[in-house]
Amino acid sequence: MPQTKSSAENVATRGGDGKALNPRDRRADPRVMRPIFAVALAVALLGGAVDARHAFSRPGTPRHHGFALALDRVAEEISGRRDVSVRCDTTADPSILGSVTFYGASPGREALLAPPVCSMLHRLWEGRRPSLACTELGHGQCGQEVLELAWAASALAHESYHLGGVRNEAAAECYGLQSTARVARRLYAPPAYAARLGTYTFWNVRPPVDYGYFSPECRDGGTLDLHPASSVWP
Ligand SMILES: [Zn+2]
Repeated sequence: MPQTKSSAENVATRGGDGKALNPRDRRADPRVMRPIFAVALAVALLGGAVDARHAFSRPGTPRHHGFALALDRVAEEISGRRDVSVRCDTTADPSILGSVTFYGASPGREALLAPPVCSMLHRLWEGRRPSLACTELGHGQCGQEVLELAWAASALAHESYHLGGVRNEAAAECYGLQSTARVARRLYAPPAYAARLGTYTFWNVRPPVDYGYFSPECRDGGTLDLHPASSVWP
């Protein structure tokens, strides 16, 4: 991140020093000067464009690349916000997969995801997806990897809804469970794989009702159905 910033400043500086435009340099041939002027102008405009982009990102927003940027994009898309990011770091308790801090009714700008969640999502992102053959009828139980992937993808979706202002846990969980496939697609899983993961996740990693994380309205046509007009579920 500091790298990006300093290179942007370099561009702006180069555009601003205008050596090629020095009017005291009488030897400058106008035919030569015009292209130089065009280059200087282009550099100045480029500097301006970079500055404008900096102005859009509020101070403190981490400049992510690669996988970290892919997580940010998912959080942005689901939350509908441009100022959010995802941080992979230890959570308050090993059983906590992720969290978003609320300030009153307003969510913060960052979702925290536990390292095991991030490493599973990283596997998905780099194309090292565990086989979902176990999710087919008659193929027995799925192994730990598939369960962890299901938890991880739905955790990112869940926290992204929190970033979008959904504070109620049962609602965030239900919306998240309906968005697991979307998360998987955004992390480059083929559509059929993503859909299969979404269905598996809904039926297999649902948290117990008694913790307040699951609502009976989380069903096709229920009040928490994101697409009530469609009979596709989740
Ligand atoms: Zn939550």
